[in-house]
Order: sequence, then structure tokens, then C-alpha cells
Amino acid sequence: MKRETRRNGDTGTRRRRLFVRVTASPRPRVFFPLSFVVLVILLSLTFNLSSRAQTGKRSGAHSSIPRENFSTTDRSTIEKAIGTACAERIRDPLGSTPIDVMQARPSLSTSNADAVAGAKRADRLLPVTRKLVANAIVQLSKDYDLYDAPGARARVNAASARVQAVKRIRPNVDARDNASVLLRDPRAIEFGTIFLAGLKSDEAMISVLAHELTHVASGQSDLLRPLFRAIARRAAGRINLAISGQRAEELACDLVGLMATQQYIKETPSWEPLPRRIARAVEHNCVDDDGSDEDHLSPRNTIRALFALDIELARELLAADTQSSSRRRISLTAHAATF
Ligand SMILES: [Zn+2]
Repeated sequence: MKRETRRNGDTGTRRRRLFVRVTASPRPRVFFPLSFVVLVILLSLTFNLSSRAQTGKRSGAHSSIPRENFSTTDRSTIEKAIGTACAERIRDPLGSTPIDVMQARPSLSTSNADAVAGAKRADRLLPVTRKLVANAIVQLSKDYDLYDAPGARARVNAASARVQAVKRIRPNVDARDNASVLLRDPRAIEFGTIFLAGLKSDEAMISVLAHELTHVASGQSDLLRPLFRAIARRAAGRINLAISGQRAEELACDLVGLMATQQYIKETPSWEPLPRRIARAVEHNCVDDDGSDEDHLSPRNTIRALFALDIELARELLAADTQSSSRRRISLTAHAATF
């Protein structure tokens, strides 16, 4: 069957800036005789009943979302970590603009100083982000026990090769607060000038570049679909939220973005507080207007799902925040004592 042309991007009517739209003709429908359909339903019912009887564990038809042993404390950790990340955004001179604020802004010319700075940042960080994304995809495939499945390594290698083909950032006024990639010819990331200007740190830029590159990695042939589904299933089980279809891919792209940023932080030590640097990977999602759509979780649910997938990171963020707050308090006290 001929593959459809797909493009990641945004229509301007959406809350989020990144999505995949099917633009070509719909898939052909296949009709079966009614008797065949009835037979299939009966068979699947029989199978369901017998497998439930055998395991005695399944909770029923909704068992596709596995419930995990995620405690109230874990949930509270996630909520506090969201609070910390979004508070850091406000304190940080290089904090990202939330996407609902970006969306309300008038268009920016490509010669706008902030857009130019953003484009330079994106150009500079693209090569390192390609490497970080390729590594993160291998790591995730191993973490989700997909690396040793038949054909999996070949898929991961093909996905990495696709990422290496992206060589350019193309600023675009009309793309506003969106970034997009043409999957059938993924040589450039098209970046709205408002979006370029709104991502003021290297960490934020890497998280968004990595998101786009992950769409490219999976490509038109959906190379990474098994991984996307596994990630979505785990997140859904932990935060009790249905995450299927395109939402799974978008969440997985954000997870790769978060991992790429974490690795970058490890490789580039800085005097900046750790919570501040980590927060930059997600803080463009610190919106007041938390709308969702068919293809995406809402921005705040995206951060929630990411911290649910990496609860250790949420804990680190809180621990580091507590330390730096007490350092701030000590330094303020010391300062007060000298006068
Ligand atoms: Zn996307």
C-alpha cells in the first residue's frame, strides 16, 4: 500500500506547536461479510473469557491501561515537581515563554533580534541534539525491553540514520509558535519566529529540537511506533489517563526531549542551579490556558506524564530545589547579618 505523506506541524488553531497530520487520501476501507464479523466477535469473546478465567487478574475490557503501583506520595511528588518547574520558569531570566502566551503574541519578523538569537541557538545546537536523540532512542528501546526484539535494532539504526539527515533550521514568520518537519523530506526543521524567540535557553531549545527529530526518526514508516505505544501505556497506567494514537507519539517525542536535555546538562556543567536547568526542558508547558486536543495531552498533563515516566527526575528536582532554597535563605541571612 502506498504510504501517505505526513507532516509534523501546526495549523495555528491549536494549543500546542507540534503535531502530525495525515494530508493524503485516507486508507482504503475493507468490508467483511456480516457472518464473518459475528464469528470474529464470538471468538474474541470466548478468548477473553477463557484468558480472564485463567489469570484471574485482569480487571476487564479496560486492561489495556495497566494499573501500576503508583502511590499517593508519588502523585504528590509529581504535582510538587510541576510547581517547582513552573516557579523556576518565573525566576529564570532565560525562562521560556509558555505556549499559551506565545500563541497570543503578534507575529515576529525574521529580523527580530530575539528570533535571530533563537535561530542561531537552534543552528548551533542541532548537531549535538541529533547525537543526543539517537542515544536516547537506543536507551529507551533498552529500558522498554524492545531492543532485543526481532528486527528492533535494525529499526533503531534506521531511525538514527533519519535523524542525521536533518541539517537546517528554517525560520518562518507564519509558523508563529510552531515547529514542523516534512517527513518525506526531513532535511530542515521549520521554526516559527515567535517560538524561536520564546525559547531562550539552550536546554529549552534542545528539548524542542529533540521532539521534532524524534518525529523524523520514526518517519513515514512509523519505525518507532512500538516504543511510542509502550511509553504511552506506562504513562497512562501511572497517571490514569488515556494516551493513544497520535498522543502517544507526541508524548514519546517530549520524553526524548527531556532525556536529551538531561544528558546535555550532564555533559555541560554550569554554575546555574540544577532545578532551573531541568525545568527549562518542560516549562514552555507552564500554561494558564491548559487546553488539549485530539493529538496532544494538555500542556500541563504533558509535564505530569513526563514526571510520571521519570519519577526519579521529579524527586531530584524537588530535592535540589529544597537545597538551593535553603542556600538562598542562608545567603540572605548572611547578607542581612553583615549590615
Ligand atoms: Zn510533535
